[in-house]
Amino acid sequence: MPNEIVVIGAGIAGAACARALAAAGTPVRVLDRGRRPGGRMASRTLSGRATDLGASYLTAREGSPFAAVVDGWVERGLARPWTDTFAVAGPDGLRDTTSGPVRYAAPGGLRSLVTDLTEGLDVVQERAVERVEPGRVDGADVAAAVLALPDPQARRLLDDDLADRLLGEEAEHPWRPTLAVALGWDERRWPTDLHGAFVNDDPVVEWIADDGDRRGDGAPVLVAHTTPGTAAAHLDDPDRAAPEVTTAVRRALGIDAPPSWVHVHRWTYAKPAAPREEPFGLADRVGVCGDGWRAPSKVESAWTSGHLLGTALSGR
Ligand SMILES: Cc1cc2nc3c(=O)[nH]c(=O)nc-3n(C[C@H](O)[C@H](O)[C@H](O)COP(=O)(O)OP(=O)(O)OC[C@H]3O[C@@H](n4cnc5c(N)ncnc54)[C@H](O)[C@@H]3O)c2cc1C
Repeated sequence: MPNEIVVIGAGIAGAACARALAAAGTPVRVLDRGRRPGGRMASRTLSGRATDLGASYLTAREGSPFAAVVDGWVERGLARPWTDTFAVAGPDGLRDTTSGPVRYAAPGGLRSLVTDLTEGLDVVQERAVERVEPGRVDGADVAAAVLALPDPQARRLLDDDLADRLLGEEAEHPWRPTLAVALGWDERRWPTDLHGAFVNDDPVVEWIADDGDRRGDGAPVLVAHTTPGTAAAHLDDPDRAAPEVTTAVRRALGIDAPPSWVHVHRWTYAKPAAPREEPFGLADRVGVCGDGWRAPSKVESAWTSGHLLGTALSGR
């Protein structure tokens, strides 16, 4: 019997799962269809610098195993505490501020944190998996398989019966789309104390982050996330959303000039609408993990889900 566990997906959940397995001495290989690890912790070079187009930031519950990982990143300069305070805006402009937990960002972009987790692991990029059955990945024998993917992407690889046993009814776990729209100016044209803004009551945009502020280089770049409705209306041709998103961002932050460049990124499966409370799924040597588990959906949950599944599979 083969002794290697294959993890499909090199987002933070897959990376955490593989690390837990490797730490226990279990042979593990990670397969990911993308060119680089990171998944939805996605940073892309735009106008000469890395811009975060997926997750905006991460949080870590004090004293949790994930907090220890984040502390390690901060010590090595890979992550930085960003802010605990954001603005609250409406379609008519800035209204208020709100405070919460410390949000962490990464000077090199959030993808760099997942890349760090995959250091020393056997990771194969640009390898799209098509079929997962008990004990087999694309027809090759494995000790176990882990799908560290959004539900809709995991379902495609499984037969209906196994998908229903692992993931439940599809209709009970819908996923929502978002467009991430990066906008660059020649200079900063919004209040100096603004880190990011929740936008309420707006049909187009629900969140705007100051990418230069969170990354620490001060670049005059904002990244807006659209409402699911705006994303759903533009999934076929996301670039066409650029004008209405630009208008909504300028209105919310009171910006008096158009951006000099705009880039639109489509997330068909951005977030689960109803993440589960359980930490992961496991049946017939096939495991599932990620931010569809261990609600609420966020980076910390995805890491924890992957870490707990890896620990369970390693038998520790
Ligand atoms: C726009 C947006 C904003 C967000 N904002 C925040 C935030 O501010 N704070 C926060 O905590 N969280 C945020 N999140 C959520 C956070 O990004 C996720 O919870 C987390 O990154 C999920 O990681 P994951 O490993 O579960 O999945 P993913 O990161 O999606 O990883 C899945 C991986 O599987 C690979 N893959 C898919 N199909 C296949 C296949 N067939 N074969 C091989 N590989 C495959 C993909 O390439 C990908 O690398 C945001 C997400 C989005 C999209």
